[in-house]
Amino acid sequence: MIRRVRGGFSTGSRAFPGFSGADDEGVLIGLETSQWLVEALILRRVMFRSIRRLYELARADPVDPELRGWSWDRLPLKPRAYLNLGVSEIASKYCETRRDIWLRRKTGARAEPTEPILTGRLIHDAISLALKETAKLLINNTEPYTAYQILSEKWRKLNPPKGYEKTVEKTYKATLITILGEAMYEKLVNETPQPVAYSEYRVDGTPLGMSQNLSVDVISDSVIIDFKTGAPRDFHKLSITGYALALEAAYETPRDYGLLIYINNPEDPRITYKPVYISNTLRRLFIEERDNIIDMLLEDAEPPKDLNCQPTCPLHGACNK
Ligand code: SF4
Repeated sequence: MIRRVRGGFSTGSRAFPGFSGADDEGVLIGLETSQWLVEALILRRVMFRSIRRLYELARADPVDPELRGWSWDRLPLKPRAYLNLGVSEIASKYCETRRDIWLRRKTGARAEPTEPILTGRLIHDAISLALKETAKLLINNTEPYTAYQILSEKWRKLNPPKGYEKTVEKTYKATLITILGEAMYEKLVNETPQPVAYSEYRVDGTPLGMSQNLSVDVISDSVIIDFKTGAPRDFHKLSITGYALALEAAYETPRDYGLLIYINNPEDPRITYKPVYISNTLRRLFIEERDNIIDMLLEDAEPPKDLNCQPTCPLHGACNK
């Protein structure tokens, strides 16, 4: 389902403790309802300013037209087979030999809900709920502060398991504050229509050999936003790349920028972000990973175990039978 909402992303923090002004990433910590408006506004601007810093990279290394999603009907984008791969299957290289995909697709093995997976799902649900609820009120012209008062406790609808209440509450409220702060900013400063964000945006990835029902976490101001938990990994950029290719194939408009937002530490959620230029290198890497997976599945060759695999792998049980 496509939901139209207003605003973008960041979170508030009193006097910006912990914010790092690094060139290509930043840290946003904490959440206080006092000063929520100013903080959310400024920090949202900081994140999107970090995207603007990537413009220089784009000028130095413009995207080759043959690596745009709309070139899906010719090599190198044209897939060897159409296997409905998920972006996360291609991009999530937690299992380096890709044995996890083989187990799921060839033996029907199911992932066990590990703690990181459960946390990630709850965070995702909290963000989605906040987007959905704010959209309903803002479209009806409810004042942002009134909307905050109405919505601030609705995170309870998610009924989080014991021990996860704080994670869900803080993630939900951070999202709420960001969107409502942005709505207030547009109203007070610009007096122009607010930027539009879409959550759980569905896009058809079949021209590129992917699923017809891909779901992008959030698109705001043409920036693809993907939420993650756990430590940042280089391959996280590939998920944004996959969505960009699918969106370009569907709409034939360029998608050059993304934002990885990490939410960690359930007891006292810590939010960090990393802007991403969806470069030629990333596009080639994504296509290479897709092609390797297609080859592996077509050739039906069981991959070896990953020598570095972690016991937290959700397929650990099935893999070691
Ligand atoms: S247990 Fe290791 S080898 Fe098996 S699927 Fe998981 S990461 Fe891959």
